[in-house]
Amino acid sequence: MNSLLERKTDHTDTAIVDIHNRTFKKLRISLTSACNFSCKYCVSSKNMKVERSNYVAPQQILHWVQSIQRVTPLDAVRLTGGEPSLYRDLPELIKRLKEAGIPQVGMTTNGSLLNVQAGQLAAAGLDSVNISLDAVNEQEYKRMGGRRYQQVQSSLQTALEAGLNVKINATILQNINDNQIIPLLELAMRHNIIIRFLELMPMGYLFGSKDELLVSADDILKIISNKYSFTALPREKSSTSNYYKLSGGSVFGIIGNHSTPFCRDCDRLRLDTKGNVYGCLSNEKGIALDSDKTRDALQLAMEQKQIDRFSGSSLSMRYIGG
Ligand code: SF4
Repeated sequence: MNSLLERKTDHTDTAIVDIHNRTFKKLRISLTSACNFSCKYCVSSKNMKVERSNYVAPQQILHWVQSIQRVTPLDAVRLTGGEPSLYRDLPELIKRLKEAGIPQVGMTTNGSLLNVQAGQLAAAGLDSVNISLDAVNEQEYKRMGGRRYQQVQSSLQTALEAGLNVKINATILQNINDNQIIPLLELAMRHNIIIRFLELMPMGYLFGSKDELLVSADDILKIISNKYSFTALPREKSSTSNYYKLSGGSVFGIIGNHSTPFCRDCDRLRLDTKGNVYGCLSNEKGIALDSDKTRDALQLAMEQKQIDRFSGSSLSMRYIGG
């Protein structure tokens, strides 16, 4: 049982802080459970059925965000899915979030529509994008469940030219795309952007499965060290990633939920398309947000947090946005 402390803060009533001094600062919003890809680590090849996602209007999402803000000030909102770029009112939502005083609005996307949307989203106020790109080789990319390879490749440059802060996320699976680690790193170096390699997070159909697909942080560092030398950088508080600087100056990261868990200072809260909040990715039980009882909901959400490490979840990433 993760017990709570109540602490007076400078401008709100009382923020919700647990005994590990964790509080909510970053909100991840799943805008839709629909997706136009079928990534191996998210969708089982046996069940490719895509459910229709319910649509939530920007003003409803803003209402939920503002009820959360009244209880705990937010530093950042990250838009996720499914695939958030399929959400038809994306520019309007981003504009409203910025007008509501959210300092940083980012998006995690498969990049399939970014080459056409980047300019409009940046103009609406989007600050950053994390593009999921799991291979440089087109065949490997398709094997990982990716589509629209050329569009995704061109979206990297388009997003940079639109002035967005761009990062690449690459989930590495054993004997599937672990031969892409160096090509992906070199692609990021060519674009002068940061790439983060992710250890597999056993969610949805992979929950409870053996670690056959896991490529650990040490494995990834070993593969990179065979060609490049690098030094570890200090970890930023509440960061999911550990970063390393290559001798040439480029930086890469590893999100090692298995090897280097990051629960102890986790400040993330999640919101789904039905208005449920989740204090932890390892807990598939959503807590309904009722604007009169938002504080109660956030206290329950904080109690969901793991103490030590991610323990997996039967809930698919597409409903809670990873
Ligand atoms: S498992 Fe839960 S507590 Fe740990 S980092 Fe993920 S969301 Fe935070």
